[in-house]
Amino acid sequence: MPPASEHQPGDRSNDGGPFLTVRVLVTGAGGFIGHHLVTYLKERGYWVRGVDLKYPEYTEVDADEFEILDLRRWDNCLQAVRGVDQIYALAADMGGMGFISSNHATILRNNALINLHTMDAARIEGVERYLYSSSACIYPDYLQQNADVKPLREEDAYPANPQDAYGWEKLVSERLAEYYHAEFGMETRIVRFHNIFGPYGTYDGGREKAPAALCRKIAQVSDGGEIEVWGDGEQTRSFCYVDDCVEGIYRLMQSDHRHPLNLGTDRMVTINELARIIMTVAEKPNVRIRHIDGPQGVRGRNSDNSRLREVLGWEPGTSLEDGLVPTYRWIEERLTGRTSTVSVREVAAPVS
Ligand code: NAD
Repeated sequence: MPPASEHQPGDRSNDGGPFLTVRVLVTGAGGFIGHHLVTYLKERGYWVRGVDLKYPEYTEVDADEFEILDLRRWDNCLQAVRGVDQIYALAADMGGMGFISSNHATILRNNALINLHTMDAARIEGVERYLYSSSACIYPDYLQQNADVKPLREEDAYPANPQDAYGWEKLVSERLAEYYHAEFGMETRIVRFHNIFGPYGTYDGGREKAPAALCRKIAQVSDGGEIEVWGDGEQTRSFCYVDDCVEGIYRLMQSDHRHPLNLGTDRMVTINELARIIMTVAEKPNVRIRHIDGPQGVRGRNSDNSRLREVLGWEPGTSLEDGLVPTYRWIEERLTGRTSTVSVREVAAPVS
């Protein structure tokens, strides 16, 4: 096999397995999902380049190459895509509700630049497949005003009215991906994630999302202590474990489905219920919740997985309880230095 640098896109000659010469770029590979995806692709024999503004914060780099590049810049995008066959485009300026609800112009500008430039660089390079990571945040505000919300189907995105600039930008970039297929023939895939959680994700600093923030708060109090939750805690969401997320993205990339697809679970829980499950995992059943003012996002959100099942013949299988065990243990270890006797991968195996 030639050295990696001599490979040409489309060259499938190899002597070591079906995927060895497929070269993949993961953008946002220093982030939460991107890092897990790189590990997953390496385990399947792909050659992987990771690109991000930063290295993974909590683990070693698994990628064959890792480049620190700001993908808002056109010249950096051309550098990032060189010689690759497939791109999983995960890079985004993002965070939990606290960040998303208060940085609209910054988020819209940064993410639009990243996606416009990365997708066009991919076109110029002749990249065969391009997966764009969208979000459940594209769904209209008017369908998510009750906690007991009807699960959101892909076609519910229109008439559009996302709550935040983050969602508006995702919606435009979804359209961009569909237009790049229609006009240039690029094989584009579009996934709408619904609240992904798991170990090795941001858990403090202001960009953390609800599951990681609650794990941190509960790890930091003793049983009988008190944690704060934004709003009345009766807002609802569904949550998807990160191993299922990367499996789903991979399956979507192999499929021939070019339209947006939900990727999440369809089990809706309130934020209070989520906190209670984490307390059980933490063996701190007596932690009290104090509700305070704070950004809550939409009142209710759930994924309709009908199309996911139809297109992929699969849906996420890890329960919230099973996924929260490794998530909580990992955050607790980071905060307290206490080590668990089981590894994250062992704990993540479903118990039933
Ligand atoms: P993350 O913040 O952990 O990862 C995103 C990565 O993009 C970060 O490492 C960040 O440094 C990088 N990035 C930001 N600006 C960049 C730039 N200019 N150039 C290069 N890299 C840049 O987030 P994540 O949870 O791993 O999310 C991955 C993707 O999935 C994002 O597009 C996000 O919008 C989308 N998404 C995630 C969720 C979720 O629940 N985690 C839900 C919906 C959508």
